[in-house]
Amino acid sequence: LVQLSMPLNFMGMIYREIKQALIDIDDMFRILHRNPEIADQPGAKPLAVGEAVVRFEDVRFAYNPERPILRGVSFAVPSGKTVAIVGPSGAGKSTLSRLLFRFYEPQGGRITIDGQDIAAVRQDSLRAAIGMVPQDTVLFNDTIGYNIRYGRWEASEAEMREAARLARIDRFIESLPEGYDTPVGERGLKLSGGEKQRVAIARTILKGPPILVLDEATSALDSFTEREIQDALDRVAQGRTTLVIAHRLSTVVNADEILVLDRGVIVERGDHAGLLAHGGVYAAMWNRQREADAAREALKRAEDRE
Ligand code: ADP
Ligand code: MG
Repeated sequence: LVQLSMPLNFMGMIYREIKQALIDIDDMFRILHRNPEIADQPGAKPLAVGEAVVRFEDVRFAYNPERPILRGVSFAVPSGKTVAIVGPSGAGKSTLSRLLFRFYEPQGGRITIDGQDIAAVRQDSLRAAIGMVPQDTVLFNDTIGYNIRYGRWEASEAEMREAARLARIDRFIESLPEGYDTPVGERGLKLSGGEKQRVAIARTILKGPPILVLDEATSALDSFTEREIQDALDRVAQGRTTLVIAHRLSTVVNADEILVLDRGVIVERGDHAGLLAHGGVYAAMWNRQREADAAREALKRAEDRE
């Protein structure tokens, strides 16, 4: 019975969360990634964040023992810097962010923040220190204001509006008849992917965490939206220790360090210029993306002429 009741409780929790969240497959996937087996160690202390240096030390991880996903990954994100992770789909990029948030635990190696093993600190303090802007944002079935305030409940009205302004979503919200009181989600206004992401950015700006994890959307946004989002992301990343799973060329070019992850190992690392000069996997990826972008632009110009 004990064995049975745990999963049932877990299902109940998932069910409640799903009811609350905007339902689509990606959200469901995200919720399912919460792992109820990860608990605080007895006497765990809160994380003490100073410089906010993040370090992965020989991290090994598998969802299923027979299929290793991360096979010894080491890197550091220095205080206030941006490290970009690039690589093919399925390489293990998002898994790194799930481990940093401690949705899962590494089976080997460790992850530290300012020298403290994240497995040994209280989870609430860990998650308070990290802001996540996921690829697919979950919006609650509530007002758009509520969805931003979720970042920090004590925030004032003025702070919420300032966060929306920095995330470049303020004009859109103010154009709605009900403004910040507009209901969103499955029973309210449907927002586009770019709008949802900017709500998530506003929420994160309001939260003001020292560490940031960004999972950029893979799907091509129109170039205006892309610029707006990039601008908002640049602002939120300013002065914070940032780990970004990067798909946009502009993010990658400006990162302090780029890691190329392939089948669970870092195969190349360096800055943009260095990696291009190296002429390896990164250089090939870059050239492919450039060609794809050029083709898209040409197509768009042809369509505009019609
Ligand atoms: P990326 O973000 O680089 O595309 P992910 O880190 O999301 O890759 O996934 C790495 C691999 O782990 C993929 O093959 C994926 O199918 C697998 N994977 C992801 N989540 C799970 C899970 N919960 N259970 C089993 N396998 C998973
Ligand atoms: Mg991913």
